[in-house]
Amino acid sequence: MNMLEQMEEAEVNILHTYNRFPVVFQRGEGCYLYDTEGKKYLDFAAGIAVNALGYHYPGYDEALKEQIDKLIHISNLYYNQPIIEAGAKLVLTSRMSKAFFTNSGTEAIEGALKAAKKYAYARDGHADHEIIAMNHSFHGRSIGALSVTGNAHYREAFEPLMGGVKFADFNDLESVKAQITDKTCAIITETVQGEGGIYPAEKEFLEGLRKICDEKDIILIFDEIQCGMGRTGYYFAWQAYGVQPDIMTCAKALGSGVPVGAFVLNEKAAASSLEPGDHGTTYGGNPFACAAVSKVFSIFEKDMILAHVQELTPYLEEKLDALKEKYDCISERRGMGFMQGLVITGRPVGEIVKKALDAGLLVISAGSDVLRLVPPLVITKAHVDEMVGILEEVL
Ligand SMILES: *Cc1c(COP(=O)(O)O)cnc(C)c1O
Repeated sequence: MNMLEQMEEAEVNILHTYNRFPVVFQRGEGCYLYDTEGKKYLDFAAGIAVNALGYHYPGYDEALKEQIDKLIHISNLYYNQPIIEAGAKLVLTSRMSKAFFTNSGTEAIEGALKAAKKYAYARDGHADHEIIAMNHSFHGRSIGALSVTGNAHYREAFEPLMGGVKFADFNDLESVKAQITDKTCAIITETVQGEGGIYPAEKEFLEGLRKICDEKDIILIFDEIQCGMGRTGYYFAWQAYGVQPDIMTCAKALGSGVPVGAFVLNEKAAASSLEPGDHGTTYGGNPFACAAVSKVFSIFEKDMILAHVQELTPYLEEKLDALKEKYDCISERRGMGFMQGLVITGRPVGEIVKKALDAGLLVISAGSDVLRLVPPLVITKAHVDEMVGILEEVL
């Protein structure tokens, strides 16, 4: 089958929930992907911020293969070695208290919401609490996660969703305060909004949320699924702000390719929320997924991935700013570290994404008008130059 025939076959059998780009990928190497016809692409999408280490990073495959030979799955009825290691590393890097591993980001959100509700239930002796979420947020597609996702387009067909959710404006503390009632049990926000269009939080906003939550005993949840795991040059973006959540969610780059997520609680939230019987998962935290998490943390430490992101960020930003100066269709650059967005005006961002693909560069969009760059965290200056060269060609 040639590539076109393969795509047709896919559309016969796979539910059409994505308008996929016309390419079938076969393999990756470093920061490049190859399609089934051998064409090479520079990858500035990284599987939507998942492939933090690119493809076949030294030691990563070997660690997974080793774990396959030992044990892929048992169940959470028993302990396994990788979950012990992965849990210790996640707690150490976040300086939080307890982790629960899931299979995806969405499930991490579900767990975080349940933990917050349970915390309030345990305190008040009754349920019926409210959650405040942000407009233009994205937290996932399950009913619970969709209920706190501030995007009417994703929600409309699935109403009624989970009740008791109120929306406020991101980076607008007064609008959050206006939604607080005696029933508020949690405030959930991405630290850097991803799908909504790459909007970093303002420091005063996060500090303000922390203060409100402390005063009113509200659980503060930071969704670090996209912006976490080194993408901003810190393990978790909130560490760049010095504002700690009570619960954070992570996924995407956590396994750098193996599906795994987690929600992590501080001591207060862990001490008085989910107990045996309250929450569970068959696959979550299985030895294979946790071997990936553990290896990712080891590689981050050994090869100083965070320092690399911090070092290269000014160069990436400088190059993107130069693009902005040069092309009228770019009106703004926003972002932190290797999570950058270029706001495109006067032409559809999808057209640029498609043309970049044709020219051998993978980039993605965010929101309605943002070109999103979330490359592997192991790119070099040469990759940045190559990306800029291709974008110039396309623009
Ligand atoms: C991707 C994403 C999710 C959902 O994660 P899945 O693994 O797709 O379930 C939730 N929150 C944020 C911020 C994300 O970027």
